[in-house]
Amino acid sequence: MVRAVFLDRDGVINRKMPEGRYVTSWAEVQFLPGGAEAVKRFHEAGFLVLLVSNQRAIAKGLVTRHGLESLHRRMWQELFRGEKGFDGVYYCPHDADPPCGCRKPQPGMLLAAAQDRGIDLTASWMVGDSESDVEAGRRAGCRTIRIGLLDVRFSTSADEVAGSLQEAANIILAMESAAGPIPTCH
Ligand SMILES: [Mg+2]
Ligand SMILES: [Zn+2]
Repeated sequence: MVRAVFLDRDGVINRKMPEGRYVTSWAEVQFLPGGAEAVKRFHEAGFLVLLVSNQRAIAKGLVTRHGLESLHRRMWQELFRGEKGFDGVYYCPHDADPPCGCRKPQPGMLLAAAQDRGIDLTASWMVGDSESDVEAGRRAGCRTIRIGLLDVRFSTSADEVAGSLQEAANIILAMESAAGPIPTCH
C-alpha cells in the first residue's frame, strides 16, 4: 500500500506573502523552520511526500511556468541540501475563474498524484494552512491537518490542527504507530 503526505507550499514550507501577493522569486522565499526534518521523518515512516500548490500567479502573468519551476529547483536545493526531498511537485497554474479541477479546494492534484503513484488516498494525509487545503484533502478522501496559530481561533473541518509542520508530523507519526499491528485477543 502506497501512502502519501500531501503538503501545501506557502504557509507550510515557506512563509506566505500578505494577501494578494505571491512568492515568485528567490528573494521572497523565507523557509519556515523544520520543513526538511519533517519531510525526512515522513520518508522514514514510509510515506511519499508530495507538494500540491495553487499557483494562480502563473495565470495572472506574474511568473511563467519555467520561472516557477526554476524557483522550485532552487528552493528544494536549499531546503534539502542533497537529501531526498519531495517525491513529486504538483501545481495548478489556473486562476479561480474559469474553474478548473486542480485548483484547491478541488482535489484534482491529489487525484492525479494518486493515479501516477498508485496512492491509497484513504491512508494518506493532506497538510495545509488554509481551509481550501483541508477541503481538497477531504474531497480526495484523505485525513487532514490544518496548520495555524493555535492561539488564534479559526473554524475548520480538518481532522486535526497543528501549530507547525513539525507538530503535524508528530500527529501523523503518532497516529501511524498507534494504528500499528492489531492486538490479538485470547
Ligand atoms: Mg498555504
Ligand atoms: Zn487548475
